[in-house]
Amino acid sequence: VTVLLLLALAPVRSTSALTFNLTNGAELAALKSTNLTLYTQVRTGFESAAAMWSSVLTNNVTVSLTINYRALGTSLAQTSLESSPVSYTTFRSKLSLGKDADSLIDQTVLANLPTSNPTYTVRNSGATINSSMVNATYANQKALGIATSPILQDGFVTVNSNYSFDFNRSDGITTNRYDFIGVAAHEIGHTLGFCSCVDAIDAMKTSGSFTPRPMDVFRFSSANTRDLSADGVGKYFSVNGGIGDANGGDIDMWFSTGDQRGDGNEAGHFKDQLGLGIMDPTAAPGEMLSISENDLAMFDAIGWNVVRPSGLVVPEPSALPLLVLGGILSAGCWFRPSRGRSVRKVPTEDRV
Ligand SMILES: [Zn+2]
Repeated sequence: VTVLLLLALAPVRSTSALTFNLTNGAELAALKSTNLTLYTQVRTGFESAAAMWSSVLTNNVTVSLTINYRALGTSLAQTSLESSPVSYTTFRSKLSLGKDADSLIDQTVLANLPTSNPTYTVRNSGATINSSMVNATYANQKALGIATSPILQDGFVTVNSNYSFDFNRSDGITTNRYDFIGVAAHEIGHTLGFCSCVDAIDAMKTSGSFTPRPMDVFRFSSANTRDLSADGVGKYFSVNGGIGDANGGDIDMWFSTGDQRGDGNEAGHFKDQLGLGIMDPTAAPGEMLSISENDLAMFDAIGWNVVRPSGLVVPEPSALPLLVLGGILSAGCWFRPSRGRSVRKVPTEDRV
């Protein structure tokens, strides 16, 4: 009754929202004929994961992903990102356009982004990068309003069928099972632009030609030091030149620092064990994964238009009905259970 009432009261709103076009990969397509029940759980799970992002990101774009469910190595899931270099100048100018510039985070971003190409410290090569480009995922480029070259897909997301998953979040996540929808949403988050070129630096272990990701523009190790080193030095998310974090307060939005040379987790994640958001690098059995304001702050900074329940940004009136309905349809989304620290965690390893 409550939902119907709210639906009736909700004014006609613009249909601006992120939508997804999900295509089954080969193994998932084959599952339809061999195990229809499991196929339906997986397919519906991916659709629910996509809907988690559609409920909070309002860019009127369609992201096309190939989804799959098959045996992988030890990771829970993996994502292949599709991206291309965009000039920093274009990236910066696109951030200043449209409704996205209404948010407090965007205003802070624009007030602090250098007008000339940023410089990045890379201690692994003893050098600094002065890059005129950012390597943006196609989905991120769509959000920015950049016309992408013809491509097949914006990303390829595969969940590892070797693990036991709970496909139903409405009654919590069963002990000893992983949150399928949350894991899929995490991987989709990478395709939307939550990724770092530090993982390439970490893997190659040599100096080379690396193009920073849009997220790397906001990766600092101290005030005024954008830092793409794959090492143990702490790196954090800041939109005001490294002075504070995206909340404008104390620095607490830390990043993982590298699978090989850092803290053991891929750098294109928040730091583990701090409960920072769905873009943390690991998931525990029994843990429900939820999109946090930290996650949304990052997507806001790199060009997505974001709806939040509270705090950093006052949503525009036209976005409020979506916010209310989204809160009802995914009530657990905003509140993370405390993480169990003794349970074994499995990295959601991402192939870039
Ligand atoms: Zn990941």
